[in-house]
Amino acid sequence: MLIDSHAHIQGKEYAGEAEAVIARARDAGVETIIVVGGAGDMSSNSEAVALAAKFENVYATVGMHPHDAKDVDADELKTLRELASHPKVVAVGETGLDYYYNHSPQDTQQRVFAQFIHMARDTELPIVVHERDAAQEAEDLLRREGAGKLRGVIHCFTGNYEAACGYLDLGFYLSFTGIITFKNAEPLREVVRKVPLEKIFVETDSPYLTPVPHRGKRNEPAYVRFVAETIANVKGVTLDEVARVTTTNVRALFGI
Ligand SMILES: [Zn+2]
Ligand SMILES: [Zn+2]
Repeated sequence: MLIDSHAHIQGKEYAGEAEAVIARARDAGVETIIVVGGAGDMSSNSEAVALAAKFENVYATVGMHPHDAKDVDADELKTLRELASHPKVVAVGETGLDYYYNHSPQDTQQRVFAQFIHMARDTELPIVVHERDAAQEAEDLLRREGAGKLRGVIHCFTGNYEAACGYLDLGFYLSFTGIITFKNAEPLREVVRKVPLEKIFVETDSPYLTPVPHRGKRNEPAYVRFVAETIANVKGVTLDEVARVTTTNVRALFGI
């Protein structure tokens, strides 16, 4: 059985369909789904928690994407801290730094990321980090603001092996998406080959990043299997082994 460790199935892309999406995932051997808040607006957080409250094998995280860091104020942080106390909220995030798009100013992204790191420390929850083109800055902030007490995962990891080693040194897990199934992703598959399976999560980041052979269509948690199959091929192990170990990893970090 697999876990989709990062999906946004609370979004409008799945309006009225969440139950069917969760059922299809279960039929495909995906036992558990982590619904990640913070992509879009605050409603993505309350809707993630609502889905987790409704479905047994669904859990939620609450945070705000670095794209929208410019909109995070004290009131939002207070609301998120309250939501984080819900028994089915298993992490703070997604949060982080995205210097590829820079939808929010970089200094704002850094400030808000630090605030979420503090929230994770205070609540003793792990953190779900989004990082693009900012590996050194993200690692430095996690190290400094986390003060050695932080546990977490770098979701949709697309960096090089050096960046991977920095995060592994912090004790973080690395989560891979359908990007590793893309034809031009050989350098990233090389990173997958070198990172120990004991530090790897699989995710879809639904509705984005749909793996081959469904690339171009809407993604959904059932397709996390194609990510796991690619990891099995790259590492020369069975799909069962990838499922067993990645599921153990996700359960260990999120305490589920
Ligand atoms: Zn992300
Ligand atoms: Zn995401």
